[in-house]
Amino acid sequence: MLEIKHTLCPSCSVGCGLNVIVNNGEIVGTFPYKRHPVNAGKNCLNGRKSIDSYQNRIEKAIISKSETDVEKAMNEVLKELNGVDNSEVTVICSGNNDIEAIEALIKFSESKNYNIAFYADNLKDFSEVASYDEIASAEKVFVIGDLLYENPLIGRRIVHAKQNGAKIYALGKTEKSVTFNIADETSNSTVQEFLENNQGNIDSSSVIVFNYVDSQEDLDKIESLNCKFLPVFSKSNSKGALSIIDVKSSDEMLELLESTKVLLVFNDDIVDELDFDFGKISKIISFSPFSNKTTEISDIIVPTKSWLEKDGTFVNAMGETQKFTAVVESDVLSEIEIIEKLNG
Ligand code: SF4
Repeated sequence: MLEIKHTLCPSCSVGCGLNVIVNNGEIVGTFPYKRHPVNAGKNCLNGRKSIDSYQNRIEKAIISKSETDVEKAMNEVLKELNGVDNSEVTVICSGNNDIEAIEALIKFSESKNYNIAFYADNLKDFSEVASYDEIASAEKVFVIGDLLYENPLIGRRIVHAKQNGAKIYALGKTEKSVTFNIADETSNSTVQEFLENNQGNIDSSSVIVFNYVDSQEDLDKIESLNCKFLPVFSKSNSKGALSIIDVKSSDEMLELLESTKVLLVFNDDIVDELDFDFGKISKIISFSPFSNKTTEISDIIVPTKSWLEKDGTFVNAMGETQKFTAVVESDVLSEIEIIEKLNG
């Protein structure tokens, strides 16, 4: 039987709706979700490709590169945790986890006195951010990062702003930034220089939309300006995570990893994000639905449910809470079920 099921795109924090085509319980494609308020049926390539990762999901537990059953892998995890001081254990959660999983991970880490670490592209939470409509209606839009390429459904609002007569100022890391194609002024400077050079120009009719900064000082500078701003994260629930857990900067993450002997990574690819010698950590244990650079170097891997196989809650970049429900059934463990097993 062919069915169309609603869910959310997990590939960035914009919070676009995604329709998934399910044929006899198997995911076979995506379909426009026309009534969704964020993207009205449009999904970027990353969004449409998000189901590819599901088709290549991890199905078996692995210990030292050999397949095993989940029971054995979980026993091995408990052995590793019991072999070190609790202060040498670090739990990594991320914006890939839904709110329910993050709450459970916080409770679990606190009860065991483990370190818990959350990293969000070196960005931080702001109590008030611009809405997507405010980008489209701004008179001046200052874009830090290639949002037209990396977060196209925000890019669409920037294009609407341009069509409405706004001036677009774009900062990019390379000359090849797609956003440069629609910008009135472009720059490859540092974020600090970009903000300083435009300071006299940024006012209450402006929106700064950004998906990276160079330093924490850039965030303070953005916050001090008389305009609206919107940080856009690379992960679907980073904004939600920021509301319930203290975020760490990249320097704080590196410091914590230096003193970590057992690293528990829940659905994240921290190896891809931080420039750290992970060989210094005695045991890396990944609980993940998909292969990534972190699972590649993990000593133990336990498969977990992906967002397509469970119910949950994400909060998108402009702070809207969005619920999603499972589109396919799965007997793989969720993060919460893993924590229950680790708690005995
Ligand atoms: S803009 Fe982001 S949330 Fe929207 S479809 Fe693309 S990757 Fe998914």
